[in-house]
Amino acid sequence: MRILFLVAGILCVGGAIAQTQHPVKCGMQKRHEAIIARHPEYAQFLKDQKASLQASADFYKLFKMQGSGDRTTAISAVPVVFHIVVDSAQFNDMGGTAGIIRRCDSQIAVLNHDYNRQNADSTLIPSGWRPLYGNVGISFGLAHRDPSGNCSPGYDVKIIPGTSLTDVGFDIDTETVAAEKLAGTGLPAWDESKYYNVWCVNFTGTSNGTLGITTCRSDVTGGFANPWEVGVDILYNTLGSTGPTGAATGMGSWPNPFNLGRTLSHETGHFFEIWHPWGDDGGLCPWDAGGADDGLTDTPPESDAVYGTPSYTVPGGTINDACQDSSGINVQPIGIACLSYMDYTDDNAMYMFTTDQANAMASMVLLSPSSVTGATGYGTIGESYSLTQNPSLLVPCTPSGLAPSPTELNSSLSVYPNPTTGEVNISVNSAAEKLKDIVVLNLLGQQVATVKGQNKDYYSIDLSGLSKGIYFVKCNFASGSVTRKILLQ
Ligand SMILES: [Zn+2]
Repeated sequence: MRILFLVAGILCVGGAIAQTQHPVKCGMQKRHEAIIARHPEYAQFLKDQKASLQASADFYKLFKMQGSGDRTTAISAVPVVFHIVVDSAQFNDMGGTAGIIRRCDSQIAVLNHDYNRQNADSTLIPSGWRPLYGNVGISFGLAHRDPSGNCSPGYDVKIIPGTSLTDVGFDIDTETVAAEKLAGTGLPAWDESKYYNVWCVNFTGTSNGTLGITTCRSDVTGGFANPWEVGVDILYNTLGSTGPTGAATGMGSWPNPFNLGRTLSHETGHFFEIWHPWGDDGGLCPWDAGGADDGLTDTPPESDAVYGTPSYTVPGGTINDACQDSSGINVQPIGIACLSYMDYTDDNAMYMFTTDQANAMASMVLLSPSSVTGATGYGTIGESYSLTQNPSLLVPCTPSGLAPSPTELNSSLSVYPNPTTGEVNISVNSAAEKLKDIVVLNLLGQQVATVKGQNKDYYSIDLSGLSKGIYFVKCNFASGSVTRKILLQ
């Protein structure tokens, strides 16, 4: 991160940003430190990666200026699969199957907006930053074919017992094998050369409070990760977006203020090899001993992460932190990049990637590796290009068994005995959806009993205290309801 002097007409005014204690949003720094503790050479590996990043961005910029390189072959959207590994309470907390579908759809929309300069809140970008509002140009779509060629809704779900929660989630300190990525305890990655794998999990142990963490492709190249680990983990209920009004219903709950899908916008930046603007150096400036930066030119020096919703009211949009140098040598004409998706601000206070951030990512995804054959010093250009070469995976098809039709729901349900003297049993075919809840109604439509759905296939309700007569047992699923008439005698 060198210094950018060339944005004309922008006032260099700013002040220190008041910071309060916040949980660390992203586990990347902690993960890096954990790997370095076991593999000291990883520190130099990361430095080398950052050192080549600006060259990668410039290389892509050159191709764009020539109007040729980035589209030399057909580029398709990146197929995304969400692996949801949660317990039944968390599944319900995501709004069940219907909520998950909406979360997946809205998350893809957020990615496509944020990575193509189409985010509606870009109107909030201060004028000083507008010239650097970057367009990554990468598109995303739900994967509609799994690696075996079967139809897919773009997600898979594994409900785990609540008691096994401590086994799920990447424990950074102990570097526990990522249980959510193993077949026995979670959901394995789909071919990482074709799919962008995103696991939605609950972070546990010392990772508790983390919103996201990424295993990069370069980690595999360097020998620090397995190919099947490549991808992103996000806190399960940050998946998707409520929309700017926050008024979405039927989608469960959100760890506000992280309800706009920007956790994955941030982690996807890591996935495509860009870093936090402050360099993860513990509050130092790049010129301090031990200081670091993100390797990119147009993100000004920054001491540490910025949280919350900074007030971008300084004329010209300038906002600075402890790395402002009054000597004038390290002038920051446009202030720090705390409004970038790669900072730690709230979801509604991040609006953009910078041009260099965008070009660096594009160089990894939109250029084929062959574009740099024989060249050195350009980092890992083209490392994720293969993700853009599989358009057939994006073609929608109707999955079977994943979204039961009303007929399927009806046939999956048994209510017995009927007539009954009191006890009513409800069994649900385990191949169908889990029940959300059961409501018993009398002939007037009044609720006389309710049972909340759990992760099980069998329920029993005692109606012996009710008057004899006809009742309706209404079983609600995420995708519909089935009602049976019973006689209590
Ligand atoms: Zn991060």
